[in-house]
Amino acid sequence: MLQLISEIFSFKLVSNLFLFIGLLFSCQNEIYFKNAYCIENVNVIDPLDGLKKGMNVVIKGNKIHQIGKMEDLKLSPKNKIIKGTDKYLIPGLWDSHVHFYFDQHLALHMPELFLSNGITSVRDTGGAFHYVDSIRQNALKHPKTHPRVKIAGPLIDGNFNVYNGSVLPELSIRTKDVSESIAETEKLVSMGVDFLKAYEMLSPQQFEAIAAVAAREKLRLAGHVPLSMEITHAISLGLNSLEHIKNLELEAVTNSDSMLIERRRMLQNKSHLSGRLLRANIHRAQKQFAVNNISPDAYQKILDTIKKYNSYQVPTLSIYKVPIYKIFREPFWRKSFELLPKSTRDEWKKNLLGSNDKINPDQKKFSDWIQKTTGAMAKAKIPLMAGTDTPLGYLTPGFSLHYELELMVESGLSELESLVTATYQPAKYFRMEDSLGLVKKDFIADLLLLSENPLDNIANTKDIFAVIKDGNFIDKSSLEQLQKKVSEGLTVSTLN
Ligand SMILES: [Zn+2]
Repeated sequence: MLQLISEIFSFKLVSNLFLFIGLLFSCQNEIYFKNAYCIENVNVIDPLDGLKKGMNVVIKGNKIHQIGKMEDLKLSPKNKIIKGTDKYLIPGLWDSHVHFYFDQHLALHMPELFLSNGITSVRDTGGAFHYVDSIRQNALKHPKTHPRVKIAGPLIDGNFNVYNGSVLPELSIRTKDVSESIAETEKLVSMGVDFLKAYEMLSPQQFEAIAAVAAREKLRLAGHVPLSMEITHAISLGLNSLEHIKNLELEAVTNSDSMLIERRRMLQNKSHLSGRLLRANIHRAQKQFAVNNISPDAYQKILDTIKKYNSYQVPTLSIYKVPIYKIFREPFWRKSFELLPKSTRDEWKKNLLGSNDKINPDQKKFSDWIQKTTGAMAKAKIPLMAGTDTPLGYLTPGFSLHYELELMVESGLSELESLVTATYQPAKYFRMEDSLGLVKKDFIADLLLLSENPLDNIANTKDIFAVIKDGNFIDKSSLEQLQKKVSEGLTVSTLN
């Protein structure tokens, strides 16, 4: 009996000793990160690696300092810990097609609208240089509270430029000949644009000259396919991102040669139309016809060329679907207007008073075809970027990007592929893929913490628990306060 008691006692002693050593060992493994915060037990969604459960992520300064499985990267309770249980961490989102210059009053609030909706970077695809540059500079000065801004400056257009400031805003520069195109492009390069954008009324010679400058300066050349050309030609010369899939269809027909001749004849502009009207006439004469007469062989050849040159495609599905399907009449869309500053909200509501729910069948066919083409491009592994064209078309800044991601899925992309279009691809486009766009050690901490899984339903990207910008953790109530300030029209330091 005595022996038994002593055995039990010693067993207890030994097991307690083991427990003590175990605790000591695990305590020694627990790390304290000074001047940092840790998101504990979170589901990480990395655009390349997909879902990783039970992760600890340490944010220090503006970087992801450490990331590891909970059992490997043990956190001391002394750390500043944010519970990530049942939450999803994804990279911050990009809207790769925005126009600050389009509505300069709304632009004062756009950075806050983007950030509070989880958009941590934007690509401005056309506006007066001094204006978009001031927004970019302000973002550079305040990286923790403003989305990153990449700019093209103005669209470089031809002799009859479309956005000349008379009816449409002055988003473009008119260049009358090749030498002017080169001079203006070089001027933009010297002023420090992040990429270039070529527009629809350029001649093939002008386009080629601009593409040569872009290649020499190692800048991306975005744009629309000039109406004087065909898409495969423009892409082979260096159009490495195409916006809105614009004018692709004009080559996807059997009689594309004669259509090109006809466009060039119209572009001589014998009746001296404005660039806006001239472009509208050409579109009216050919676009719908082309979409109604797509030749599968010609179409496939175009997709093969895009793939061969790895030209990024920014389909801007929302700018087609929202106005054409009259999505702006639907309650969920109207609710997004509450995010807008009051003056814009009133203006948009007033403009839409006379709208009806009639859908134009030709336009519907065009919008559906753009979505079908987006799906075909995804299947062909052509790089896609999510962009909206906000604030055109009653697309609420920030909110509309989430809708774009839904339309990507509707077009045939998986939820993860859809996320890639707003995270990894734009980072890669700007050659930042080694520092941005993934949830990875030493990457810039531009992140979203979501309450629901976006891989179950892409609409869950709207369920934002916190935005992390340049390491700055902005919780839900701060985001709501920010949105309230914007909707009340209180300007938050945007332009200095
Ligand atoms: Zn645009």
